[in-house]
Amino acid sequence: MPIPNYTLSSKYAAPSKTLGATTARFGVGPQGRHRQMAGTGEAVQIVGGGPGAGTTVSFGGDSTIMEARVALLFYGGAWNNLALSPNCDNIQSAVQTLLATPYTSQLIDYQCNGATNGSIWNRVITNPPGNPFDPNDCGGVVNDLINNYYSTLPLYNRPNFYAFFLPPGVTCQQPGNGAHSNDGNVYYSWQLYGSLNFITQVFSHELVEAMTDPNGNAWQVDPRDSGPNGTWNEICDVCGNAALPVNGVMAAAYFSTSYKACVVPQPDPPPPPPPSLPNGDYEISCARFEYHNQNAYIGFIGGNWNGQDWVMFESDAIKRMQKGELAFYTLADGERANVSIGISQTNNQYLTTSPDGTQQNNLDYIASHSQCKIPPDVPYWV
Ligand SMILES: [Zn+2]
Repeated sequence: MPIPNYTLSSKYAAPSKTLGATTARFGVGPQGRHRQMAGTGEAVQIVGGGPGAGTTVSFGGDSTIMEARVALLFYGGAWNNLALSPNCDNIQSAVQTLLATPYTSQLIDYQCNGATNGSIWNRVITNPPGNPFDPNDCGGVVNDLINNYYSTLPLYNRPNFYAFFLPPGVTCQQPGNGAHSNDGNVYYSWQLYGSLNFITQVFSHELVEAMTDPNGNAWQVDPRDSGPNGTWNEICDVCGNAALPVNGVMAAAYFSTSYKACVVPQPDPPPPPPPSLPNGDYEISCARFEYHNQNAYIGFIGGNWNGQDWVMFESDAIKRMQKGELAFYTLADGERANVSIGISQTNNQYLTTSPDGTQQNNLDYIASHSQCKIPPDVPYWV
């Protein structure tokens, strides 16, 4: 779906001058080439090359952005050109992918907790940004959007942070690939155009720094650099522009006080596959009833293989029997009874023992006398 256009209201004719935007201080973004490291998929990846273990942070006393609701503002009608690579859709999609991961989870070290993007907040601003761009325009543009658009949204569905993306060819009056700042209580970031990896790395860098140090007087790494011309020594700055992909989206490493290192939190690795019985014949030595409309049926079967207790859904056992992979039998008083698949009057499949076995070989008897134990944290076998 295309990102809707927004045209600034006529009173906002000459940005930065008419609305009296403050000459905001700003946190400088990465300037050098960013380093990209190979990922290993652990839940929290520690990135080498960060500051030493003796690194400390300090809190200036002003609020953080505890939960960021991020609007993506593509500044300039040039963004309506979807032939750009990356285009605004690519960037929106990458940001939404990233923010759906636990990437911001370690910001809990700074009492921040998560960031989201709603497509309804994102706009292509059709007015051209200045070139070179003056970041002090951001506050005025956001205020125009608040007055004419965001204020029409329900209170619970409004952004509280604004990320500006400049189109190709637009430079900035201030140094760096991007930065974050504020105009009163409007908090924003801006950044230059580049590859998708470059854009998401700068975006994530500015986002986590803006959340933890929105106006330059919250969390910084010591020694703080909050003076009028300070560059703010923030939690990504000390990580040497390190970045790692998170679900395929390049994201900046940030300093974690818990790990005393630069980290890139990753999604938890997928759970290990459930244990599986190798193809073969197995004795069923326990079973367990389930109930449907108060009618008992065999829900689980189990046994012991290779010193391990196994428990399997009857339905999974039937599937593997039908593939010819598994066969089952029961064994009581030296009498062996093969287990086969029966079909009920209503076409339900169930396991049943051959009729010539002893009564003790009957699965119902086993379920009544030798019930499988199902510890809550043990996966069922397949
Ligand atoms: Zn920074």
